[in-house]
Amino acid sequence: MAWSLMAQSAKMQCCRWLLQQGLAVALTLLALAGWRTAWAEPPAKRFAVAAAHPLASQAGIQILRAGGSALDAAIAMQMVLTLVEPQASGIGGGAFLLHWDGRSIEAWDGRETAPAQADEQLFLQPDGRPMQFMQAVVGGRAVGVPGLLRMLEQAHRQHGRLPWGRLFEPAIQLAEKGFAVSPRLHSQLLAGAEHLQKDPLARALYYAPQGQPHPVGYRLRNPALAQVLRQVSQGGSDVFYRGPIAADMVQRVRKHALNPGRLSEQDLVDYRPRQRTALCTDWRELWRVCGFPPPSSGHLAIMQMLGMLVHLPDLGMGLKDGLPSPSWLHDYTEVSRLAFADRAQYVADPDFVEPPAGDWRSLLAPDYLRQRAALVGPHSMGSASAGQPAGWRSAYAPQLAQEEYGTSHLNVVDGQGRVVSMTSTIEAVWGAHLMSDGGTGLPGGFLLNNQLTDFSFLPTDAQGRPIANRVQAGKRPRSSMSPTLVFRRSDGAWVLSTGSPGGPGIIHYTAKSLIGTLQWGLSPQQAIDLPNFGSFNGPTLLEQGRFPRATFDVLKARGHQVEEVPFVSGLHVLQETAQGFVGGADPRREGVVLGE
Ligand code: GLU
Repeated sequence: MAWSLMAQSAKMQCCRWLLQQGLAVALTLLALAGWRTAWAEPPAKRFAVAAAHPLASQAGIQILRAGGSALDAAIAMQMVLTLVEPQASGIGGGAFLLHWDGRSIEAWDGRETAPAQADEQLFLQPDGRPMQFMQAVVGGRAVGVPGLLRMLEQAHRQHGRLPWGRLFEPAIQLAEKGFAVSPRLHSQLLAGAEHLQKDPLARALYYAPQGQPHPVGYRLRNPALAQVLRQVSQGGSDVFYRGPIAADMVQRVRKHALNPGRLSEQDLVDYRPRQRTALCTDWRELWRVCGFPPPSSGHLAIMQMLGMLVHLPDLGMGLKDGLPSPSWLHDYTEVSRLAFADRAQYVADPDFVEPPAGDWRSLLAPDYLRQRAALVGPHSMGSASAGQPAGWRSAYAPQLAQEEYGTSHLNVVDGQGRVVSMTSTIEAVWGAHLMSDGGTGLPGGFLLNNQLTDFSFLPTDAQGRPIANRVQAGKRPRSSMSPTLVFRRSDGAWVLSTGSPGGPGIIHYTAKSLIGTLQWGLSPQQAIDLPNFGSFNGPTLLEQGRFPRATFDVLKARGHQVEEVPFVSGLHVLQETAQGFVGGADPRREGVVLGE
C-alpha cells in the first residue's frame, strides 16, 4: 500500500512538472519563431559545435577559430552556459564528458559526491517516510560536492591547446556586459518563481523588485559570476575548492534556514574527478556505440534496448508516414520496461556496488538480451521485473521511480578530428534553488546542484533489503546522462556524437537520435524532430499532441496504458558525412549548431 501511494505521489509530482515544462516549451516555441538560427547548409568542413544556447555555440566557434581544441571549446561553452542557461548546468554542478582524440576514447566523471557527513537517512522524515521531492530539493540538503571544474581542469591538462584562462574570456565578458534574457530562461523563471525567489541572491538577480521575472530581451549582468570565473581563470580550480568561494558555498548550504545540508570545506578539498573506461557496444553490423559506464545508467539502458530490439520482428518497419509505427512503439516500449527494471535493480556507483555477475557488460551480453527480448509478446507486460544476467541473484531491492530533470548537452568536433560529447547538470531545473556569490559580495552568483536527490530516498525496501543507489557518504548518485559517441566498426572512424537533458527521458531521447539517424537514415535534425516516446517501466509515454489517434488505439488494444506528456528533450547531435559535419539542435529548447 505504502509503495503504491509513494509511486502515485512521485507520478503526480512528475506530471505536474511535465505540465509546467509543457507550458514553458509552448511559450519558448512561440517566442522563438523567427528568432532561432538553424543549421546553415552546406555542411561544415573544419569544425562544428552544438549546444543549448546560441551564445554558448558562438563561444565554442570563437575558441576553435583561435586554434583551440574540442576540449577547449567545450570548456568555454560550459562557462557561457553557466551564465545564460543557469537553470540547467554550471560550475555548481557536475558532468560526464567523453573525449575522442582520433585514437582513443576517455570517459571523465565529474559527478557530484555525497558529503562525508551524509547518510542513508538524508531524505527520510522523522516518521521514516521519504520526503516530498521539492522538500528535499530546495535548500542545502541535496547539495553534492560540485565536480565540474575539477574534471574540466584535469581533462584540460591532457587535451587543452589554449591556456586555461583564455577559455573563460567569453563568459566573463558576457557576465560583465550582460546578455539578453531568452524566452526559455524567462519562462523557467516564471515556472520556478515560487521556490527560486526564496533565495535572496536569485531573487535580486533574476526578478524585478515587484517580483516579476526579467522580461525577454532584458540585459542581465552577473558581476559575482564574472568575478568568480575571473578568479578561477587565473588561479585554477583550486580557487573554487578552497578559500573564500568554497567557504561561501559551505556556509550557504549549512546555514540554510529551512533545509540545511551537510557539505563541508573538507568535502570540497577532497573532491576528485574519476577517469573511467567508456563502455563500447557493437550495434548492428555497422556501428560501435560508446557511452558512460556507472554511475550512469545511460549506456547500459540504451544498449539493452537497442540490443533487444534487433531480436524483435519489426526491425526495419519502424517508420510509417514519417512517424514511429504503433507496432514498433509496442516493441520499443516493452524493451524499455525490461531495461528500466534492470536499471532500478542494479545500477549505482561502482565504488559502492558490485556489478551483476562481476561485470556491467553482463547486462549487455547477447544471450542475456536474447532471453530478455523473448519476454516481449503481442500484449504489453505493463511492468517488468529485473533479469538475472548469467544466473546472478541480486541482494538488492529495486529503486522506485523518482524525479530527475534539468541539464544540458553539448558536442564539439575540432579541426584535428577530436570530439567532445558532454552532458552537464545541476539536476533539477534551478538545482537546489540556492545561489552562492562566491563570497564576492557582488550581485549575482551561480546555482548549487541538488544532485543528491538522484539517490534513492528510501535506503531499503519494505523487507529491509538495501537499495543499490541509496545515499552513502562519498558516493556518486546514479545518473541517466548519456553522452554518446558512435564509430564505424569497419575502420573505427568517428561518425556521430549525441546526448540530451531530460532526466530518465535522456535514455529514450538519446536512443531515438541513434535509431533515427543510423537505422532509419534520417538527418540529425529530422531525427531530433521526431516525436518522443518511451516508458520508465510504467505507462507508455507519448509526446503530447504528436501522435495520431490510431497510434493510441493500437497500443491500447495491445494492453498499453498510454499517457501523453510534454517529454521535453534537448538533443544535440553532430554527425560526420561524406560532405562534412552536419548537426541538429532540439527545437524544444534554444540550442543551435554552428560550424565552418
Ligand atoms: N540529474 C539527472 C541525471 O544525472 C539529470 C537530470 C536531467 O537531465 O534533467 O541523470
